[in-house]
Amino acid sequence: MIIVLKPDITQKQIDHIVKEVKKLGLKPHVSKGIERTIIGVVGEEEVLSTKPLEVFPGVEKVMPILKPYKLVSREYQPEASIIDFGRGIKLGGKRIHVMAGPCAVETQELLLSIAHKVKKSGATFLRGGAFKPRTSPYSFQGLGEEGLKYLREAADHEGLLVVTEVMDTRDVHLVERYTDCLQIGARNMQNFNLLKEVGLCKKPVMLKRGLSSTVKEWLMSAEYIVSTGNPNVFLCERGIRTFEDSTRNTLDLSAVPVVKSLSHLPIIVDPSHGTGQRHLIAPMACAGVAAGADGIMVEVHPNPEKAKSDGAQALLPDMFDDLMQAMKGVARAIGREI
Ligand code: PEP
Ligand code: MN
Repeated sequence: MIIVLKPDITQKQIDHIVKEVKKLGLKPHVSKGIERTIIGVVGEEEVLSTKPLEVFPGVEKVMPILKPYKLVSREYQPEASIIDFGRGIKLGGKRIHVMAGPCAVETQELLLSIAHKVKKSGATFLRGGAFKPRTSPYSFQGLGEEGLKYLREAADHEGLLVVTEVMDTRDVHLVERYTDCLQIGARNMQNFNLLKEVGLCKKPVMLKRGLSSTVKEWLMSAEYIVSTGNPNVFLCERGIRTFEDSTRNTLDLSAVPVVKSLSHLPIIVDPSHGTGQRHLIAPMACAGVAAGADGIMVEVHPNPEKAKSDGAQALLPDMFDDLMQAMKGVARAIGREI
């Protein structure tokens, strides 16, 4: 339900509506847009029929939100969200941000050297997993807190931001201390307790698409985080499982304009997990930019044969540098910048 307020409504009138909505056991979200202030109300809306909100002073109209996701829908907020990471970094605006780094944090030296190279090529975020969701319990599981320390140190040294995955509700506040952005991996997209826990955090959250999730399910997961209290959520298309087996996953680039039409949240593309093959990353990263992505995430490793995970899809630093140049050209062609 959206309560559209009159342009001349007073703060006292807004406070009164908020109080009345809360009395019904519902959660009001006041959103001050450029032209109008609206109050989104989520929860079991039937109880609202007991209160004629349209006759409250300052209310222009009351409209239902037809989509099952409410707070993340374009109906609720017509203008695109821009996530402010501080230090002048904003995701969702004209500038497209590139997040690069190894699949997993391996050693301190290696991470420092990758961070230096990706920064020099123009990345804004350093990526790398300290907690790794591996298919096999015998594979490298990540360095844990030690890895988080290396990430923070390397990123600070180069003036980068950190994005790293959190897999367990028990680690959320530990990871939040070190990172600038909490990553929810594909395998945890519907781990609702984890979504609620990152919903309590102050730092932005990147929500990757589940391996076999529809756009609607993905947006419902984003709704969990936003409705718990964290509005700074963006999505990451990383490929889905289909019958096609010539790539690791099928990178669903149409999800970018689909999400943009349904939701105000920013969306980025990860062609590394999306294709699983080094030679496919540059064309799909450029296509992601052309499709309207607000960012690109790629895995980079100087010695992929020795990488502890995902070596086959890691770009060498020089390849990453070439890709940055190519993406800059595509961004320019569509009126954006990298
Ligand atoms: C990752 O980005 O490190 C990762 C594990 O990706 P995904 O969750 O998309 O498989
Ligand atoms: Mn990986």
